[in-house]
Amino acid sequence: MKILFASKNKNKFKEIKEIFKDSKFEIIFDDDLEDVVEDKDTILGNAQKKSEEIFLKHNIPVLSDDSGLFVEALGNLPGVSTARYAGENASDQENIEKMLKNLSDEENRKAFFKTVIYFFDGEIRLDTEGTLNGQITTTPRGNNGFGYDPIFEIGGSTLAELSFEEKTDISHRKIAAKKMCDLLTDTFAE
Ligand code: IMP
Repeated sequence: MKILFASKNKNKFKEIKEIFKDSKFEIIFDDDLEDVVEDKDTILGNAQKKSEEIFLKHNIPVLSDDSGLFVEALGNLPGVSTARYAGENASDQENIEKMLKNLSDEENRKAFFKTVIYFFDGEIRLDTEGTLNGQITTTPRGNNGFGYDPIFEIGGSTLAELSFEEKTDISHRKIAAKKMCDLLTDTFAE
C-alpha cells in the first residue's frame, strides 16, 4: 500500500521512510503538496485536518504529523502554538528567546515534546502519539537540529548537542511513527 506523507519537510520524510522500510507500506513524498492551514486547538486536530484535506485532493491514503512543546511552568504552553510562539512568522531564534525570557525566574524547567501522527484513507482513521520528556535550559547549547533543540535538555545534553542519528533515535516523532507502523500492520493484516 502506498501512503502519501503530508509534509514538505524532507528530513521528517527520511525519518518516517526509515521506520517503515521493513513494512508492507511504501511512504511517498510530494514536493508540490498544497499547504494546509493549521488552525485547530490541538495537535491531534491539526494532524487530522491535514490528513483529511490532503486525502480529499489526492485520493490516496495519507499520514500527517503535528508536534508541539509543552512546558509545565507555562501551563503546558505553547503546545499547539509552538511554531508561532513569538509571533506568526517567528524564527527559531525568536521563539527560543521568548521562551528563555518567560522562564527566567522559574525553577521548574520540566517540558515535553509531543507528536501526533494521523492516518486517513477515506474510511479508516488511526492516530498515535509519542512524547519526549526533558527540561528547558537557561541558555542555548549545541549547533545541530532545529526549532527548540538548543534549549531542550535530556540526560545532560541538549538535543542540539546530539548527532542527527542520536536525536532521531529517541525522538517523539520516531516513537509516534513506530507505533503507527505497528498499528497499520495490525489493521491491514491479511
Ligand atoms: P511541527 O508540527 O513538526 O512543524 O512542529 C511545530 C514546532 O515545534 C516547530 O516549529 C518546532 O519549532 C517545534 N518542534 C517540533 N519538533 C521539534 C524537535 O524535535 N525539536 C525542536 N523543536 C521541535
